[in-house]
Amino acid sequence: MDTFESLLAEITAAPGTGRDIVNPATGEVIGQAPVHSVSDLDAAVSRARAAQPGWAALGHERRSELMLQAADAIDAAAEPLAQLLTREQGKPLNGPNARFEVGGASGWLRAAASTPLEPQTVIDDGENHAVLHYRPIGVVGAIGPWNWPMMISVWQIAPALRMGNTVVVKPSEYTPLSVLALVAVMNQVLPEGVVQVISGDREVGARLSSHPEIGKVMFTGSTATGKAIIRSSADTVKRLTLELGGNDAGIVLPDVDPKAIAEDLFWGAFINTGQTCAALKRLYVHDSVYDEVCAALAEVAANVPMGVGTDENNVLGPLQNKQQFDIVTRLVDAAKNAGGRVLLGGEADADQAGYFFPTTLIADVDNDNPLVQEEQFGPALPIVRYSDLDEALAMANGLDVGLGASVWSSDRDKARDVAARVQAGTVWINSHGGIHPMIPFGGVKQSGYGLEFGVEGLKALGVPQVING
Ligand code: NAD
Repeated sequence: MDTFESLLAEITAAPGTGRDIVNPATGEVIGQAPVHSVSDLDAAVSRARAAQPGWAALGHERRSELMLQAADAIDAAAEPLAQLLTREQGKPLNGPNARFEVGGASGWLRAAASTPLEPQTVIDDGENHAVLHYRPIGVVGAIGPWNWPMMISVWQIAPALRMGNTVVVKPSEYTPLSVLALVAVMNQVLPEGVVQVISGDREVGARLSSHPEIGKVMFTGSTATGKAIIRSSADTVKRLTLELGGNDAGIVLPDVDPKAIAEDLFWGAFINTGQTCAALKRLYVHDSVYDEVCAALAEVAANVPMGVGTDENNVLGPLQNKQQFDIVTRLVDAAKNAGGRVLLGGEADADQAGYFFPTTLIADVDNDNPLVQEEQFGPALPIVRYSDLDEALAMANGLDVGLGASVWSSDRDKARDVAARVQAGTVWINSHGGIHPMIPFGGVKQSGYGLEFGVEGLKALGVPQVING
């Protein structure tokens, strides 16, 4: 698996038996994804169930060793994996994109392998003795989206493995090859049946989330699908970690230096061409710096190259699929039709191959415009003017989602005070969207529940058991 072609040959379905996967930047077919059925899923769950006791019996130390070796295998295959990811997902090789994502996948695997988790003595006072342990759940189902397919799969797989569970992964129909390839590389090292990928549609996803032999579902995707999973998991009382949609607000206070923050604002909004759950999607800027912030942001944005991901110069790419392209087009049109001022972009080039939508900044958008109210998940940022901090906070907190948010100010203490009033799982100060394998991450309101990463993330993949006595 040391070239992109050999990696693809390993995972692609035989011609005529699979489903075409198309490069969203060019329209070219890159390979065929296997089409797995509900009975394939059932068979995989049985294998996972059979493999689980042996995997758990290895103990934390040996499992961690194997996970570290799997991370080494990912690093050894990093370039072919990135080449595949670029062709399937569309994100460029360079910038915070494909190579970065593959590096994140091995990094998060290492972190989950290396994080200590000791039993916790809750009380030991001579009269009482109680110790809290985390036992394996059994078989974990992992359902993922198409925006960061490799990295998000590892966020789901790694803590599950570390805690002694086996995993059945159902990747997005849009990016199955990336996850199949990643797991094929990990499986050079891991015992058979410990991690399997079922490349199926939403019917397979629905079966996975109601399957009687799956104890927990890790889900990352839209809020609508998250609600469907809550319903279908109810009969078996499954544990759930739900990382759902966001529509993150950024609040720029009057004391910022617009030029100094422009680049970080840009990447906070446009990382992965805006197709990131915790990207900045609504920018509230104080009246006194509004024009300067708009100008500085437009200057940065105008100079960031977008194009086919295999071209080493590009750092922004296409939308991943037609459905997403249509959503972004509709929402940008809504802002333009309501009198939004286009600072940059605003309209796709009809003659261009692929699902490219240009980097778009729209100023003077009303807060109730659909481009602000709905999660646009693309390279378009509405900029809303405010004059009163309470008004900005009311707008930022006015939606029923709360994944991330940010506050921008040259006074960090003041920014922290404002951050405490924002309803979001993470509030960044003078940046947006940065994540770390040891810092817990999760949403509030309809952005989901449960935490990923760090010790909290490991605990979420175990069954708590108290030994009392
Ligand atoms: P999606 O909900 O359409 O699909 C996600 C996965 O769910 C796919 O694998 C799909 O096949 C599966 N699925 C669909 N219907 C199902 C059902 N009834 N039962 C079980 N599985 C089912 O989401 P998407 O469009 O792939 O991803 C984009 C969304 O994900 C955005 O809303 C984004 O904000 C969110 N997201 C959130 C995070 C986070 O950490 N909170 C990270 C990335 C993406």
